[in-house]
Amino acid sequence: MLQRALAHLSCHLPSQCLLCHAWPAQRFCAACVAHFARPQLRCPACALPRQRPDQPCAGCHKADWPLDQTLATLRYAYPWIAPIQHFKFREHTGLAQPFAMLMRQQPALAHCLADADQIIPMPLSNARLRARGFNPSLLLARALCHSKVNTRLLARPRDTAAQSSLTRHQRWHNVQDAYQVIDAGAVARSQHILLLDDVMTTGASLCAAARTLRQAGARQVSALVLARTE
Ligand SMILES: [Zn+2]
Ligand SMILES: [Zn+2]
Repeated sequence: MLQRALAHLSCHLPSQCLLCHAWPAQRFCAACVAHFARPQLRCPACALPRQRPDQPCAGCHKADWPLDQTLATLRYAYPWIAPIQHFKFREHTGLAQPFAMLMRQQPALAHCLADADQIIPMPLSNARLRARGFNPSLLLARALCHSKVNTRLLARPRDTAAQSSLTRHQRWHNVQDAYQVIDAGAVARSQHILLLDDVMTTGASLCAAARTLRQAGARQVSALVLARTE
């Protein structure tokens, strides 16, 4: 509780903008957010940029896409790659709150969080969790909506090759059957499960998790990601 209060407080204290180094500023100053985090029209199902966001794009329509909706806040591109990598790989866990604040600026987010009855941070395998020391998606989920976060529904029992080391095609094979439902009853009773991930590249992991949840009876599965590769 105290940790959460301190994390919340720390993101309101003046500090240096990580992008333009303005001081004093928030971790991401208003000018950088206005310039680099402008809302973008995206496909409602897979969150790829798109001119007409009212219908799923041909790609995810054809692929039998298992996510009802995907919301992405940032482009996984300059200048966001560096802070996101610091957050994920260098234990800059204090970035969870500023990133969550950016995610909250999305107009559709409030409704999505209110509508979901379970929020599942994408699980890591035990080996990956031990190596990294924490799950970045869990920190983001807690910063966004602590009361709905549920880590006891879905697990990743197998450790597979890191997605980042694989080609686009290999990524889809690598995560097939990687996830396992822990509490099938709770999944079947849920109305709307929201998966939360830090970075979405091909969507292979999120789709594999969504398919596993749907096979266990989940009615609606959506995804929320901090950044999307385009
Ligand atoms: Zn700035
Ligand atoms: Zn799409």
